[in-house]
Amino acid sequence: MPDASPPCIALLGFSIECNKFAPPATKAHFIARTYLEGDAIIEEARSPNPTMLPEIPGFVAAMDAAGPWAPVGIALAMTEPNGPVEHSFFVELLDTITHRLEAALPVDAVYICSHGAGLTTEEDDPDGVLFERVREIVGPDIPIAATLDLHANVSERMVQSIDVFIGYRTNPHLDMRERGAEAATAIRAMLGGLKPQRAFVRLPIVPPTVTMLTAAGPYAEMIDFAQSRMSPEILNVSVMGGFAFADTAKNGLTVVVTARHDKGAAEALAGEIAELGWANRARFFPQLTSLDEAVTKALVVGRDNSVPSLAFADVADNPGGGGRGNTTFLLRAFYEAGVSGALLGVFYDPDLAAEAHRRGVSASFEARFNRSETTKFSEPYTAPATVVALTDGNCVGRRGIYAGLRLELGPCAALEIGGITVVVISHRVQCADPIFFEMMGLDIGRARSVVVKSRGHFRGGFDEFFGPDQIVEIDLPGLTSPMLNRFEWKRLPRPVIPLDQNVEWVRV
Ligand SMILES: [Zn+2]
Repeated sequence: MPDASPPCIALLGFSIECNKFAPPATKAHFIARTYLEGDAIIEEARSPNPTMLPEIPGFVAAMDAAGPWAPVGIALAMTEPNGPVEHSFFVELLDTITHRLEAALPVDAVYICSHGAGLTTEEDDPDGVLFERVREIVGPDIPIAATLDLHANVSERMVQSIDVFIGYRTNPHLDMRERGAEAATAIRAMLGGLKPQRAFVRLPIVPPTVTMLTAAGPYAEMIDFAQSRMSPEILNVSVMGGFAFADTAKNGLTVVVTARHDKGAAEALAGEIAELGWANRARFFPQLTSLDEAVTKALVVGRDNSVPSLAFADVADNPGGGGRGNTTFLLRAFYEAGVSGALLGVFYDPDLAAEAHRRGVSASFEARFNRSETTKFSEPYTAPATVVALTDGNCVGRRGIYAGLRLELGPCAALEIGGITVVVISHRVQCADPIFFEMMGLDIGRARSVVVKSRGHFRGGFDEFFGPDQIVEIDLPGLTSPMLNRFEWKRLPRPVIPLDQNVEWVRV
């Protein structure tokens, strides 16, 4: 008699992008966003507005739709990009995952939701450590599928420890749910007997994230070419741009191909896509606008309503890459130049938000930004302000990467500073969703310029207001500046593009 019991699938995850130049991430950061154990993971994944990113909800929905299964939630720790994770917490998480997974055995398959650019204060490849641990626990024959952010820095250990490697294909990341569903399809196929083979190639290119958009450009061309080469033999192609600021030896643009059976086919295709990336290498250099030029543009649109409005991206202070969301260079320049009709957000300053709440709507006061400074870029700044709106910061994402997610920004305040209305928040997050302005009663459609502290994910949220020609990426100091030559790198493989001259790629 065939075994009629539904397949038992373990779900677990560790998801954070870490910037080695930013202050450490603690357990509290995960608890404030998403830290779950056991059945709570599945319940949260099935809820209408989960706090977690959509890979696990997409995986669970696809598994639910495809037939009976028995999910076993293990543990999930996921939070906003930050500095390296305190090693003691990572060890604690690894122990929790180990004990819970061992207790769940035997399982038929494992799904791992991972970012791939995690760090701890002592380990440069915690994602690889996790993958390897899971493999050790379940043994060589149990299928493991993992989804990863396309900013993952891929190690050999990561690729070799799992069966199917699935990276995002869109930047801004709008396909997280689909990639989770793809992992479910792959696991179903492996439960039916499929034994996939993987190959990967890494290039000596560490692309600044602004050169890694998927609508157009050198990275988009690699992804499009990869998708054009899909065939019945190829299960997945992932072109992983990586995350420069992790500063690890495993950094570098990487192509990972998962074939159904034929390792040679996987290797050949990975090499072909890497060749295209190498041919495009001169295009992985950022083109930014100077602050002076940005001020001039903002003054023009502020004075003349017939000119299309502009979005100014403070790409160097992107909380989505570990930035603190609190540099004042742009606020100061716009205010002192007399820019009008501007919105600026979201500025992370819990002290200032709390003071605005104490003072109340309509109060005018000297707003002191960064009274508790956090990095050398977080300079104090004082300007006369009027409180125009206050909220508790609880909202549901409306558009882009946060669409449908339950978000808590903590006490928020909208402060009018000259011709600029600044949204101040208490829980650090990147400005990727128009809801962050709209929940304060601010009208993005009427603003002449909108400053976003975001590198690129704002494009997925604000595209209904700003086309690609209305976006200005500004060159400013900060923890996530695309000008990589301004950082002191310790572990990046060298020589590497775009930092060095005469870089060679030795094909192996
Ligand atoms: Zn990413």
